Amino acid sequence: MTKSDRQITQWVEETPFVDTHEHLIEESQRVSGVIDPLLPCDDWTYLLSYYVANDLGVAGMPAADLQRLFEPDLSSEAKYQLLAPYWDRIRHTGYAQAVRHTLRGLYSEDDLTAESLPRIAEKYRETVRPGFYANILRLANIESCHVNSLQRIFLETEQPALLAQDLSILEFCRCSIADLARVEGETGKQPTTLDEWLDIIDFYFATYGPRAVAVKCQIAYSRPLDFAPVAKAHASRLFLHHVGKVRHGLGSEDLKGLQDFLFRYCVGKAGECGLPVKLHTGYLGGRGLMQLARVRDNAADLCRLLQDFPETRFVMMHIGYPYEQEFIALAKHYPNAAIDMCWAWIINPAASIRFLKEFLLAVPTNKIFTFGGDYAAVEPIYGHACIARRGIAQVLSQLVADGWIAREEAPNLIERIMYRNALHFFPNRRR
Ligand SMILES: [Zn+2]
Repeated sequence: MTKSDRQITQWVEETPFVDTHEHLIEESQRVSGVIDPLLPCDDWTYLLSYYVANDLGVAGMPAADLQRLFEPDLSSEAKYQLLAPYWDRIRHTGYAQAVRHTLRGLYSEDDLTAESLPRIAEKYRETVRPGFYANILRLANIESCHVNSLQRIFLETEQPALLAQDLSILEFCRCSIADLARVEGETGKQPTTLDEWLDIIDFYFATYGPRAVAVKCQIAYSRPLDFAPVAKAHASRLFLHHVGKVRHGLGSEDLKGLQDFLFRYCVGKAGECGLPVKLHTGYLGGRGLMQLARVRDNAADLCRLLQDFPETRFVMMHIGYPYEQEFIALAKHYPNAAIDMCWAWIINPAASIRFLKEFLLAVPTNKIFTFGGDYAAVEPIYGHACIARRGIAQVLSQLVADGWIAREEAPNLIERIMYRNALHFFPNRRR
């Protein structure tokens, strides 16, 4: 490492991140240890449950063993026996490296081994106590997080200064039976007409919009992002068939039409409230499910939306990996398109380095946010942030070494992409 590289690394270490995407559950739930789909077990394997589990599954770990790994009552030793044959296969992936950085930074343990396991199990338990979210985020030099709760449409968090919240619009526009049930659970309302459904959406925007940092939608998990205009009268008929008195159920084309209408309605509401719209794009979490042909069209499908809502600011999450080149083109061409590198650093660290280097030479630098851990657990955010900082420092070092930017320009650029862009772009955070 040259002197210049060391200086750049130090600047990146000293600059706080605004973390623009997490799925953190509440600290009080972690401390109480109440088991839940987002807290399947309360021991060291919880740190593996979100992403490492997927690498284990694709590396050959049998599904039944994988399930047992996250059971709340299996002993640490039994869990380690299940994990050990596969850990070596995945230890170099971004998912596993994030966990290894976490073990080093939070528990002072170099690796997960039979020898270190009892200490790691104990340190997990010692760490989980009131105030540990703020402690870990401080250690990771993260100023604050944006949280997209997977438990509530809008989570009224115990720590609003630390954990800004997204308002989820997924339930409103996907409109599945489960989504209707969630809305009924939160509001007691059972809409039978489109107008009643829109009233509920309006209620959420009026109640939570002023406190939300953005709206978030991951409907790309279930459909393409080609949202066409649909007349309200047509959508009303479709809604009646879908959930109202008629209840015939909709074919896929009609369901698309209803979702198109609802999505565009929500985007319009977000624009009225001045809320940016965060969209999942690219690679899908989980395993054995992804339809790459649909993912491949995400960037092209979004052009119409970007044109039809020029006043609404869109954030394309996860760099659209593995089609990140197309997302550089979107952000370069459309004034209302910004890119979030959340999750990308651990999906593919090397691709993320290439992406950021190219982005910074092609697109205005106010249009990128460089970190979001995308975790329900707070601990691995620490390790993910280590990987992101390492990547950002390498990109800046390469750009300086190759003569594209001057070394004196680096501190300002670093602060912008790690911190200031997010503060300026998400206006509710300035209150
Ligand atoms: Zn996410």
